Amino acid sequence: MKGKHPASVVIVGGGTAGWMTASVLSRAWGNREDAPVITLVESPQVATVGVGESSIPPLRTLLSIIGVDEKKWMRHANATFKSALKLSGWGGKSSRPYYYHPLFCWGENETSFFDDWLHARRHEGFNEPFDFCFYGSHLAEAGKAPKMGHEAPNAGRMQYAYHLDAALCADYLRGWCSDRGIRHVLDHVTGISLDDKGRVANVHTRQSGDLKGDIYFDCTGFRGLIINQALGEPFESYSDVLFCDSAVAISSFPQTGVGSLGSETTATALSAGWSWDIPLQNRHGTGYVFSSGELEPDEAERELRQHIGVDVEQGDTHLIKMRVGRCRRAWVANCVSVGLSTGFIEPLESTSIFCIQSGIVEYLRCLGQYESEAEQQTAYNKRIGDLFEGIRDFVLAHYHLSGRDDSEFWRACRHHANVPDSLQTILERWDEDGDVDDLLLAHPSTAIVGKTSWLCIFAGLDRLPGRERKGALKGATSKDLMRRIEELRADAALHADHFAYFNGNSG
Ligand SMILES: Cc1cc2nc3c(=O)[nH]c(=O)nc-3n(C[C@H](O)[C@H](O)[C@H](O)COP(=O)(O)OP(=O)(O)OC[C@H]3O[C@@H](n4cnc5c(N)ncnc54)[C@H](O)[C@@H]3O)c2cc1C
Repeated sequence: MKGKHPASVVIVGGGTAGWMTASVLSRAWGNREDAPVITLVESPQVATVGVGESSIPPLRTLLSIIGVDEKKWMRHANATFKSALKLSGWGGKSSRPYYYHPLFCWGENETSFFDDWLHARRHEGFNEPFDFCFYGSHLAEAGKAPKMGHEAPNAGRMQYAYHLDAALCADYLRGWCSDRGIRHVLDHVTGISLDDKGRVANVHTRQSGDLKGDIYFDCTGFRGLIINQALGEPFESYSDVLFCDSAVAISSFPQTGVGSLGSETTATALSAGWSWDIPLQNRHGTGYVFSSGELEPDEAERELRQHIGVDVEQGDTHLIKMRVGRCRRAWVANCVSVGLSTGFIEPLESTSIFCIQSGIVEYLRCLGQYESEAEQQTAYNKRIGDLFEGIRDFVLAHYHLSGRDDSEFWRACRHHANVPDSLQTILERWDEDGDVDDLLLAHPSTAIVGKTSWLCIFAGLDRLPGRERKGALKGATSKDLMRRIEELRADAALHADHFAYFNGNSG
């Protein structure tokens, strides 16, 4: 490690971001003789966001490195496995009713059959969807967990993810941290003092005195209590690019049909955004991410209830205003912001928990790579900035390429005036001859999705290249592709049912 690790750490905020930060730092430094003192303060008055129920595969790796037992935490957080994102109604009238963005098996992302698939489709009348060339889509179709009955926790060939109750997951990590000596202060932070160099000197609490550290993690959610309010770092909004800025969530829609849990997050396009449906062990998490420029909250709630078939009396609703964009810099002076305080891109691709994970991991990486704080900060801020820009473009592609034109919202997305150059260049080349490999490799979204994810979105929305890349063909015919699809389908059917897996009698 080039830079020294701090002697004392203060984390403000006890949502997913705060407790993940505490867990990872404790795992990284906890066993050293000179382990830092880590204090986490959270307000009993300010609730956490409390949604955030769908993740992507790297969370599995992180939890396994921390040393959390998969079956135990999944039971605690009512979690289920996720194999794919199902995008329903995004294509418009002439398209398939839904398509998948599957999670991939190890290696599957790198060996795409897209060019062969396109050739077979155009010249051999092959009409199976591109996303069916991947295992995750078949697990979702079959409603199976990405586990065979005998597979141990954290094992398996799929890079699967989880659906989870974010509040319960944070609660699990809280217990894990308290067993490892993290100091937990339940108190409201009333102010932040800066020293004469503009660095954080103290965090003042209502009843527990002042908290002092060498480094402060701002995990206070959309408020950005330290990074924005105390240090004055500007927030750069993406509202001219991504139009959804609000969400209404219904949190207590009970789980039905126990034993037949799906393994996909469903995102259904509605009139001014999309609705999520996330299967947990005890309930469905549902909500509507929408543009407040197009719908009032009560209109959004009515449309959501109609869509999921829950009447007005059932289910507690929760309106959330979303601050979409990112802080210009995530690490300023001696404060690193992690979680919603750094930034947020609407949850269509479930990337926010991953941004938390990247925020902490990149912090440790920069400490290891550079000696001076200035170098560490410059590298960190560039990596986090790129991460957000990459996700922004990927999420925007879903809207901009949609075939829907049945509302002002969808027409505005299709005829978007502010598509960033970083995305526009990819789309132009794609339309021409599909030769976008080099552009995607250089695009900042590589930190989170590979080329095949982009291809699934393009193909799912029927946006196919004008010309074929003959040189890229691998020689798979429509027969070969069909055989592969049938094998995946048959294999998926052998997988475990979610509840059977947890009850230990899967197979
Ligand atoms: C509608 C919606 C859907 C989402 N869906 C997903 C998803 O599917 N997948 C995904 O990965 N992410 C999702 N997210 C994002 C996810 O919820 C967050 O990234 C995650 O919960 C982290 O939040 P946080 O810890 O940064 O902030 P919060 O949960 O807001 O926590 C803030 C913490 O700061 C504390 N605090 C605030 N002020 C003070 C104070 N003065 N003194 C002391 N403490 C204070 C609060 O008490 C709280 O503990 C979604 C977000 C929204 C809005």
